[in-house]
Amino acid sequence: MTDQIQRFLFERSNVRGEIVTLERAYVDVLDRHGYPPSVNRLLGELLAAAALLTDTVKLDGILSIEVRGQGPLSLLMAESNPGGELRAIARLNEDATLPDGGAGFRELVGEGHIVITLDPREGNRYQGIVALDHDTLAGCLEAYFSQSEQLPTQLWLEADGARAGGLLLQRLPDESQNQDDDAWERTVHLARTVKAEELLGLAPQDLLYRLYHEETVRVFEPKPLRFGCTCTRERIGEALLTLGAAELREVLAEQGEIETQCHFCHTCYRFGAAEIDALLGAEDGPPPTLH
Ligand SMILES: [Zn+2]
Repeated sequence: MTDQIQRFLFERSNVRGEIVTLERAYVDVLDRHGYPPSVNRLLGELLAAAALLTDTVKLDGILSIEVRGQGPLSLLMAESNPGGELRAIARLNEDATLPDGGAGFRELVGEGHIVITLDPREGNRYQGIVALDHDTLAGCLEAYFSQSEQLPTQLWLEADGARAGGLLLQRLPDESQNQDDDAWERTVHLARTVKAEELLGLAPQDLLYRLYHEETVRVFEPKPLRFGCTCTRERIGEALLTLGAAELREVLAEQGEIETQCHFCHTCYRFGAAEIDALLGAEDGPPPTLH
């Protein structure tokens, strides 16, 4: 199983972690788009981050990470759902020229912020915002954790266009179980020795052994991950409404129907005049009754 997330914890300490490896799910996302290599790499990091965050906050719902910047890349978004499905999208400014192949995170996104939305199946939606003031995506997300969750968290993310991987370590607030005072410093220090090829090429168990063979690590059952899109006819219809009645009627008059694609999976949806009327009617309240 190459696409999975593996939770672990260090015995007798309050340090826990996650390792994610993505291959098929990542390629399935990239295959639906035709982004340049530097964008593909960043998208891989973001997919890995979305999987890590979902599992870390134990969310039963939809989590999305949106990177909104003023650089050549105006939007980068990844989303996960409770079924272990991931999807992602990037939007490039039309007139943007991308820096050469080795362009990093900050060159691509420029100034801006990251919006993290947790949308649980039950309960209230939560949104956290963090400024893009670190040189890496991992750095920005670490800032999010210290700001929003107030938990010391360290992240390592890598992607190469074919594989994506990530490692997360977190120190939990409960000190009562902690009989190992320097566990946090020691485990973070060891994680800093991780190489990109290890994060991308080793199975989670092998990576844990490579980093922590001198520690007592408890590992949990890995969870499978895959590409999946949550688009439905209903949601696509709702999104169409944001164009406004005038625009929708104009397209209908010209083309007889409205054809639109899901940005994430490119599934095509067609809406006829009657269906658009029903959507617009539902928005304005019940249609007037005829006598
Ligand atoms: Zn879709």
